[in-house]
This record gives sequence, C-alpha cells and structure tokens, in this order.
Amino acid sequence: MVELGPLFFILAFFLGASSGSFACAAASRTEAGEKWWGLERSRCDCCGTALAPRDLVPVLSFLALRGRCRFCGARIPRSCLAAELACGALCAMFLWRFGASYSFIFSSASLPFLAFHTITDADTGYIYDSWAFAMAGAALLLRLAGGLPAVLDGAAGAAAGFAFIYAIIFLSRGRMGAGDAVLMLGIGAFTGLKLAAAALYIGFMAGGITALFLLAAKKVTRKSAVPLGPFLCAGCAAAMLFGGKLTEYFGFTVPWPWAV
Ligand SMILES: [Zn+2]
Repeated sequence: MVELGPLFFILAFFLGASSGSFACAAASRTEAGEKWWGLERSRCDCCGTALAPRDLVPVLSFLALRGRCRFCGARIPRSCLAAELACGALCAMFLWRFGASYSFIFSSASLPFLAFHTITDADTGYIYDSWAFAMAGAALLLRLAGGLPAVLDGAAGAAAGFAFIYAIIFLSRGRMGAGDAVLMLGIGAFTGLKLAAAALYIGFMAGGITALFLLAAKKVTRKSAVPLGPFLCAGCAAAMLFGGKLTEYFGFTVPWPWAV
C-alpha cells in the first residue's frame, strides 16, 4: 500500500464533509417538500438570501460565520455542521483503513446517503423510500466492478436486511417503522450479506443502549420511540470500517468490499 501523506487525509476529510453538506441541504429541502436537484442556488432558510460560494465551504464557513447567516444573523442548523464533521471524519477513516483503493471509493459513496437518512429520521422520524432505493441502486452499480458475485452479495444483503426488519415489524405488530426495513435495502446493498448482519447488530446495540440511557435520564418515555434509522446508518459505517475485524474475532474473514 502506498504511504499517504497528511494532505490526502485532509482532502478525504473535505470530500466527505462536502457530501455531508450536500446531504444536509438535500434533506432540508426534501423535508420542506421542495425539489433538491437542479441549479437553484443555496439560500439562507431564514432570510432567503442566495449564498455565495465562500458561505458554502463545509465546516470552515460555519466556523468563519460563527454559525450564523452573514446577512440576517439567523443560526445555521448545527445538524449540518455535525453531518459535515461526521462524514469528513468517516471519509478520512475509510482512507486510513483501505488506502487509495476501490474499497475507499465504494465505502465513501455511502456517506451522502447515510447522512441524508440520519438527518431525516432524526428530524421527522421519516425514511424517504426514494433515497433508500437510490442508495441500493448506487451500491449495486458500484458493485458491478466486482462482477456478478459482488452484485449478488449486495442484493442478498439488501433482501436479508429488509426481511429481518420486516419480520420484527410483523412479530411486534408494527411497533417499528416500515421505513427502517426500506433503509436496510440501501444499507444491505452496500454492506453485502455478512456485513449486513454486523450493521444490524451494531445498530440495534447502539440504539438499545442509547434508548436505555434516555429512559434512565427521563428524556424519553416508553411510548415515545427513539428513531432507529440513525443507529442503523452508524452500524453500516462501523460494519464497513471494522466489520472485517469483528468477523475475524468470530473466526471467519469477510473480504471488503468483495473477494478479488
Ligand atoms: Zn439569513
């Protein structure tokens, strides 16, 4: 593996942060029922002023503006900064883990989708089907580089993830949202069959532990649900990064993203 200097990690960070920034803008437009594509300029949510390129640099603009709109002083949502930082950090970690390789490109391509679903599910408790299908489609297309076995593994991961959540919905008589099942189509297509199990395991553990803490701190009641989507997305990222190590612990190796 070629030794990569710090500059490459900084570039990877800003590549990831840009995808988080895009996902955040797309999520807030989608939640507002607006179209997110096209050439329309980004605007301040509060005063509607079109933003200049210097206001749109991930992370740095937020810091330079101290989290406020240059024109009206309205607070810029912190969730966007969080999405940018998380995607930037994950992208840099993918580079550290996989080097400059197709594994890095493939893993990083999941980031805007993971950020989008995390934001919409946390904001509104809603997973947008179209974005979950697009995520699955993107993963299967990228898997074409690994040939038919890689594509089939993605399809199997998607089907198994969907079926697993759907079975829980059926058994719990609909306490869990169907959105989580659709989200697993996208996650499973990226992770493949074995790491879909790792993503589900990590997601459910993290979500369960968080829910217990929130219950103990009386931030939520038993009735008010903690959205699972953000935890499944975190589980997906963790499975891609460390799933191979996790399964090695159980005595088998999972080549990522597929066996060459
Ligand atoms: Zn403004």
